[in-house]
Amino acid sequence: MDDHDDPLAAAPSVRGFMPDEEGRALHRLALERLPHGPVLEIGSYCGKSAVYLGAAARKAGGIVFTVDHHRGSEENQEGWEHHDATLVDARTGRMDTLPFFRRTIEEAGLEDVVVAVVGESRAVATWWRTPLSLLFIDGGHGPDPAHADYAGWAPWVMPGGFLAIHDVFPDPSDGGRPPYDVYLRALASLAYVEVEAVGSLRVLRRVSGTAGEGVG
Ligand code: SAH
Ligand code: MG
Repeated sequence: MDDHDDPLAAAPSVRGFMPDEEGRALHRLALERLPHGPVLEIGSYCGKSAVYLGAAARKAGGIVFTVDHHRGSEENQEGWEHHDATLVDARTGRMDTLPFFRRTIEEAGLEDVVVAVVGESRAVATWWRTPLSLLFIDGGHGPDPAHADYAGWAPWVMPGGFLAIHDVFPDPSDGGRPPYDVYLRALASLAYVEVEAVGSLRVLRRVSGTAGEGVG
């Protein structure tokens, strides 16, 4: 099979945490927004959601940045719910998803439109200066990393741009609180209004302020 023709067809078989319906929603939103500026994702993992976003850049032009230290979130570590032992670097015993990510993007033929930024989200955000057409937050889901991603990255969404948040579960029995709390925080800021919900994906549009300005 030649996945280069339609990377979307290959996306469901990529290892990761992105249901096809939600990935296709991201793809559609990125298609709409990419002409206005870069798309940026927090939480590359093995490249699954990046394929949905990158496939949009293949069609619409533009660029997707995806930020990850590739050492896994808390819930990906040994002994936790979402641990995958095959992602551990035998030399060090630490997780390393970067080789898997690279292979995914290579096989999908998206190396020219999906750019990996390897590092701690907070460190990258501190130096980031480019307004974003779409920000997709799917990094660490603990309270500290989730709120740091919002505080560090949401200011860079341009007015009219989208803030998409993954794993938003209004019912606590479905999943952890922090992404839901961040979603509420974004709405409470009044800088964003909700435009769409697909599965655990929530999509907000920035309606006030300027890129680079804090959003509360
Ligand atoms: N979007 C992916 C899933 C992301 S899982 C998919 O479609 O499958 C969350 C990812 O966030 C993990 O790979 C983890 O390494 C990364 N992450 C967690 N906290 C981070 C932080 N503080 N800085 C950078 N990356 C982080
Ligand atoms: Mg997720």
